[in-house]
Amino acid sequence: MGKGTDADRDVSWLDDSLIADTLARNAAEDAGKIREVLAKARELEGLDRDDVAALMHVKSPGLVDELFDTARRVKEEIYGNRLVMFAPLYISNLCANECLYCAFRATNKELDRRALSMDEVAAETRVLVRQGHKRVLLVAGESYPGEGFEYVLKAIDAVYSVREESGEIRRVNVNVAPLTVEDFTRLKERGIGTYQLFQETYHRPTYTRVHVGGLKRDFDWRASAMDRAMRAGIDDVGLGVLYGLADWRFDTLALMSHIRHLEDRFGVGCHTISVPRIEPAVGSEMASCPPQAVTDDEFRKLVAILRLAVPYTGLIMSTRENAEVRHSTLALGVSQISAGSRTNPGGYTEAEKFESSQFQLGDHRSLSEVVADIGRMGYIPSFCTACYRLGRTGQDFMDLAKPGLIKEKCAPNALSTFLEYLIDYGSPMEREVGQGVIAAELGCMDDRTRRVAERMLGKVQEGRRDVFC
Ligand code: SAM
Ligand code: SF4
Repeated sequence: MGKGTDADRDVSWLDDSLIADTLARNAAEDAGKIREVLAKARELEGLDRDDVAALMHVKSPGLVDELFDTARRVKEEIYGNRLVMFAPLYISNLCANECLYCAFRATNKELDRRALSMDEVAAETRVLVRQGHKRVLLVAGESYPGEGFEYVLKAIDAVYSVREESGEIRRVNVNVAPLTVEDFTRLKERGIGTYQLFQETYHRPTYTRVHVGGLKRDFDWRASAMDRAMRAGIDDVGLGVLYGLADWRFDTLALMSHIRHLEDRFGVGCHTISVPRIEPAVGSEMASCPPQAVTDDEFRKLVAILRLAVPYTGLIMSTRENAEVRHSTLALGVSQISAGSRTNPGGYTEAEKFESSQFQLGDHRSLSEVVADIGRMGYIPSFCTACYRLGRTGQDFMDLAKPGLIKEKCAPNALSTFLEYLIDYGSPMEREVGQGVIAAELGCMDDRTRRVAERMLGKVQEGRRDVFC
């Protein structure tokens, strides 16, 4: 099993019976209580476990509409119409684990195995930079070629080393298996943005049933990973659940417990939450037929509830979802999306081979198509990486976000990075849509923020790049 002392793997914050009791206590839909919770949510102070459990049991269409309406308002109030864009970068599909839902699992013979060389990582990065991406999420299975974890560190360096005429990747987030405090320290030294790790499910019996081999079977080592990351000084961490394995209500309440634990211990919870649902994967029967599939309606509810429960935490939706589901959930709370994704190592430089992909994608559109589409819907695709580069992470970020001050930074930064994208990479159609969106956004800003934004946009027009505040 995993390494570390007992203190390194303490998960006493996860109390199954407390979660079960909270769900049972709130099982009946209570319109009075629900409206009280929605009123509280409008104060932007977040919700406690009982509030969240009450919202999970909303059934009547009128109350569901009220829930969605409140989520839309909170999303609008904090994030406006900005949507942060990123692309995953799969560097290796080697894996020693046996997660029954994943194509990368060790005994799956239907997959072509591949770990990219550093030249190949750089080549993939160049393709993403030429598309206009500024953020990548680096992903790997849990088995590293040759020098072990050093492989991942070198790959991060390889991504940051790429400089193209019109750009570079400015933030590398990482999704790799749990580490020791020492290795988290090395990861931090490489200048990563967010360390992301999904618990998959917080329901121990289910976890044991679906993880049948390798280090990942060690539930406690995984559930305590963010404690070790934070002890190593990584203060932007991203949590997530793989929805479809266990009851979504149980897992979401457990996620709340995890966040509260990190807040109590480190003063700040997680920077982002990801909400993947299981997608079909080659060589996995479970992925085609998840044990507790979450329906589209439940999924929309889940996104709305998370938006209200942790209003300042970014919500990430990946290419796993199809365009229709993405459309409907953007307004309810999602603040970051991937676009133009490939989930096989080498997928950007070569035509996609499904035989080496982690799972099937629900949205096959290019970054350019996604930008034009969300622009038409009135959203501003943001390529901003300012906070992390200015050290506005962890508690510092929350201190700015909670009084609403971050908006004064995010809104101009979104516009300047979007204009940079349009000038350097945009098609005529994207430019036309984009200019309209930028003009509309400037029109909605208060005078001070508009002046800042116009100054920054002017610099980008003059040819300056990477303009942020
Ligand atoms: N190997 C590391 C791990 O398991 O944490 C990191 C990379 S793994 C490729 C990233 C995530 O992919 C997993 O945490 C899991 O939630 C997700 N995943 C695996 N199989 C999936 C599937 N069939 N559909 C959707 N997401 C999947
Ligand atoms: Fe390996 Fe991660 Fe896939 Fe599990 S989810 S098989 S650990 S890559």
